[in-house]
Amino acid sequence: MDENSAQIIKRYFKEYYFTFSERIKAPRDIASREFGYFPFGASMIRHLGFSDVHAFRALLVKEAPAGVYCSNSLYSDPTAEMSAKGWLRAELIFDIDADALRQPCKAVHDIWLCKSCGKKEFGLRPKICPSCKANKILEISWVCDKCLEAAKKETFKLLDFLEFDLGIPMAFVEVCFSGNAGYHIRTEESSFDSLGSTGRGEIADYLAGRGIMPPLINSAHLSPQDPGWRGRIARFIRDLPADDQTFGKVDISFEKRLDALINSFSKKQVDEFLSRAIIDSGVTIDPAVTTDIHRIFRMPESLNNKTGLVKRECTKDLSGFDPLSDAVALGNENRKEMMFVEMCPKVELRGKSYGPFRSQTVELPLYVGIYLALKGAGKFVKSGATQPSEMQGT
Ligand SMILES: [Zn+2]
Ligand SMILES: [Zn+2]
Repeated sequence: MDENSAQIIKRYFKEYYFTFSERIKAPRDIASREFGYFPFGASMIRHLGFSDVHAFRALLVKEAPAGVYCSNSLYSDPTAEMSAKGWLRAELIFDIDADALRQPCKAVHDIWLCKSCGKKEFGLRPKICPSCKANKILEISWVCDKCLEAAKKETFKLLDFLEFDLGIPMAFVEVCFSGNAGYHIRTEESSFDSLGSTGRGEIADYLAGRGIMPPLINSAHLSPQDPGWRGRIARFIRDLPADDQTFGKVDISFEKRLDALINSFSKKQVDEFLSRAIIDSGVTIDPAVTTDIHRIFRMPESLNNKTGLVKRECTKDLSGFDPLSDAVALGNENRKEMMFVEMCPKVELRGKSYGPFRSQTVELPLYVGIYLALKGAGKFVKSGATQPSEMQGT
């Protein structure tokens, strides 16, 4: 990144932490947690410990880091090296990423870049570059309100699993927008805290419905009121959308549908139907996050270095939460900066849309410019110093 853009971004982060460091809350059992951060342009500093949140806030104001993290694990000595920390337990964490949900809008806002010839276009990544036929093509993903809405829907599904299948009271669950492309969910004090990585992997498998076999359907006693996956599959059968042709007539009862599945469908048809039910009813999480018990996790109310948005808690009003408005850090529209945008899709922040832009110099609210610069889509123009034509291709 060019020096001018880096300075503007760093100033923005510094102003945020100077103004809002009080919003960074002390996690429970703060003295047993590992903290970490990474400064702009440098690698991660971790294995830090704090016994009170004030010292940590002071560090944030002084350093204005690019990313701020805290362990979901508790240790007897959090500042020791990993093998000597003395792992005690870890809260369950989940990461839901809009990009992994592969929504149709990706074809509109994603960008691909050929690493051989440098060609860059909007749309889904082709298998080979239409220009030079090379196959090393980078996918540059963006998010929009539609895919973030899909991530929210996925989050609601996860909350349902946590409450009804794992028995974790909602009062112990924290939901945050990650500040980038999805949601982070963390549970406090559940009976799963002592689980190691393998046990957490089993939870991830359960959420995804991995290993569910057709005999689960093959039961005349399957009911939408059943607990766990039985009930989920049954409700999928009952609630098929009106235009679904699986059972021919749409208005047949749940019992008749189940009877058709058991007695009239071929094994292949049952397998296909079950796959659909599992994809629809399961939750797409990043299993690497859930199974890692030595992770440090981005802290709520800290800034996301990939966007400049805030990782913001929305536990109490997830349905009304609008990530692309409510997570803007410093939303003063009158503070504007000139920016040369190399390429970006239409971006919507705080209810206003910008772009798509391609090789254009535009004046943008600072928070929009920060978002684009951190996404690698452009750079701030030093007033009077650089003409856009000189900047193309740099
Ligand atoms: Zn190419
Ligand atoms: Zn989208």
